[in-house]
Amino acid sequence: MKVVEPGQNRKIAALRFNFHVHFLFGGNMKKEYFDKVFQYAKKAESIGEVPIGAIIVKNDEIIGIGYNKKERKKSIVEHAELIAIKQAEKKIDNWRLNDCDIYVSLDPCPMCASAIKQARIKNVYSALNNSDPNNLNIITKIFEKDSTNPKVNFESNLSPEKAKEILSSFFEKQRNI
Ligand SMILES: [Zn+2]
Repeated sequence: MKVVEPGQNRKIAALRFNFHVHFLFGGNMKKEYFDKVFQYAKKAESIGEVPIGAIIVKNDEIIGIGYNKKERKKSIVEHAELIAIKQAEKKIDNWRLNDCDIYVSLDPCPMCASAIKQARIKNVYSALNNSDPNNLNIITKIFEKDSTNPKVNFESNLSPEKAKEILSSFFEKQRNI
């Protein structure tokens, strides 16, 4: 005899529902892409930058990579995400990055979130939540659908341990300089 715990059917129904929602509307996130993102974040660290990395994936192919170069280039627009976007645009010869996903080691800032949206990137997969709650409020708003751009699907905190470890080891070293 099959014993059904109270609420179990509801749990199964909820699981099925979540699966369908994810399958139909959600992205196709692949955790292994975060290894690449962390690799580039560490590259940023090796040149004395805050370790932040980003990659853009289209049809399972990496078409853009970027890591923070703000200090080196002495420019605020040298964020990992914007560098990756520029590279992807060049690669496909189009500013419309339709059906592309961006993987980032930390939630994007509002400037990058806006660029991601205007580039029509479909999914943003972030390894770690930004600790500033204001940032989350603003970017959540940016990712909503508007009159010219579709909604951006945003999923965060997908690989927080490793992302945290990279950032805290960087700031630890900075403190000891
Ligand atoms: Zn940014």
